[in-house]
Amino acid sequence: MQKTEVKTLTHFINGVEVEGKSGRFGDVFNPSTGEKIAKVPLASTEEVNEVVKLAKEGFTHWSKVSVGKRVEVLHKFRALLVENTDRLAYAIGEENGKTISDATGEITRGIESVDFAIGAPHLLKGEHSVNVGGEINSYSMHKPLGVVTCIAPFNFPVMVPVAMSTMAVAVGNAMILKPSEKVPHSALILAELWSEAGLPAGVWNVVNGDKEAVDALLTNKDVMAVSFVGSTKVAEAVYEKGTKNHKRVQAFGGGKNNMVIMPDADIDTAVNSFLGAAYGAASQRCMAISTAIPVGEKTADAFVAKLTEKVNELKVGKFDDQEADFGPVISAEAKASVIKSIDLAIEEGAVLAADGRNPKVADENGYYLAPTLLDHVTTDMNVYKEEVFGPARIVVRVNTLEQAIDLINEHEYGNGVTLYTNSGSAARTFTDQIEVGMVGVNVPIPIPVGYHNFGGWKRSRFGEGQMFGPDTVRFFTKTKTVSERWFDTSYNDESKTDFDFP
Ligand code: NAD
Repeated sequence: MQKTEVKTLTHFINGVEVEGKSGRFGDVFNPSTGEKIAKVPLASTEEVNEVVKLAKEGFTHWSKVSVGKRVEVLHKFRALLVENTDRLAYAIGEENGKTISDATGEITRGIESVDFAIGAPHLLKGEHSVNVGGEINSYSMHKPLGVVTCIAPFNFPVMVPVAMSTMAVAVGNAMILKPSEKVPHSALILAELWSEAGLPAGVWNVVNGDKEAVDALLTNKDVMAVSFVGSTKVAEAVYEKGTKNHKRVQAFGGGKNNMVIMPDADIDTAVNSFLGAAYGAASQRCMAISTAIPVGEKTADAFVAKLTEKVNELKVGKFDDQEADFGPVISAEAKASVIKSIDLAIEEGAVLAADGRNPKVADENGYYLAPTLLDHVTTDMNVYKEEVFGPARIVVRVNTLEQAIDLINEHEYGNGVTLYTNSGSAARTFTDQIEVGMVGVNVPIPIPVGYHNFGGWKRSRFGEGQMFGPDTVRFFTKTKTVSERWFDTSYNDESKTDFDFP
């Protein structure tokens, strides 16, 4: 029986909530209970085109506002994020399933990107050279692009939209956010906070939708840049369609992130680090560690023995259960897909060290999985090759650091990786030779802070330009270089024409 009132959500366009007109809706569930909690409108192409038109008008005004005044709005937005942290964390937990404390952590990381974007007056300063020749001064300026869009995944309903979009707004663009249709509520709260902070209408819009809305954004001639975060399959398709339509595109995809454990590492530290980085958020993080690679049989036996013991103590529970280490996965389909990966791995010869397929939980209708650990996984197994977005983690055993590096470098993904060791020399070799975008040494999840660039390599990212950090300024602006000379009033040399290249 339905216990919760099912809300009908809206879009947020030109400063106000707007009802969906397409007649199409998606269902939003609470993964902790399996209850349907909302209906989200799925925008049509016509609706998206109308938003782009309004955002273009918003851009005309906003791009002329001084950067100092723009940043004043960011200051207020930051304060509102802090003030509304509990409310946002609850919304994230309810629609995504992650625990409240984990949701609070993602909001804090989002705020870090706002802090960095508040530095826009400094970051937008161009270059200036005096007298580059013939009394000419040369300078550059970074101009906003126009209407830009961010297309977000379900796993970070606040951090990713905030990290993707705040700098875009700070440097003078108008934003259209297309959140994941699985977690639309948090984005609408963000829109409300932007409005309350004083952002003019049309500058930050939310269009809810699915592939139709994304395709409409990718083909609309007035959308100048696309920042996408999601699965590799969709990231690649978005990159191809967006660039074919002459847009600047950065598309961040999935990952298969490894933790290499050297024989000299402290095993307890490595085990504790692995637990949180691998199973936190029910392993639904692009930077989650999915594979442990212990070096040497002795290291592997010690690591797996301690890890198995601790894995069996982890508690899966509702998003608001303060005792829970992590919550459910996002949907019934996601749960079925993780179980399928585990079944196949066992069939292919992996050894089941911990089995989380049938957890004892408070609510049987929720999409819960307890942690699974598969040992003796080999590189030909499906569970090694593919990103498993749920709490099934694997152990691949190797004999040397070189073997570990080769293994990781040969994998199609290159998002994150970490090494546990007490050897500076091993760390140096590893950080130098590893073909991965974000690298840790004795750091469980090496996600860069908001003022450093974020992004994977290989099939974890399509296009250039990273998220967070200084690259965001470059991605959301275009550079104009001016060569300027002023004659003094006495200058008059009508006879001088030069046909040679200057
Ligand atoms: P997803 O690819 O299913 O969806 C992402 C976005 O694309 C959503 O807004 C969705 O509506 C839209 N979309 C889905 N199918 C589409 C299609 N066929 N055409 C156009 N748009 C489409 O991803 P998800 O399941 O929401 O998120 C999880 C994935 O995101 C994982 O693979 C995870 O690793 C990845 N991720 C990557 C990063 C990173 O920074 N590299 C960060 C977070 C998540």
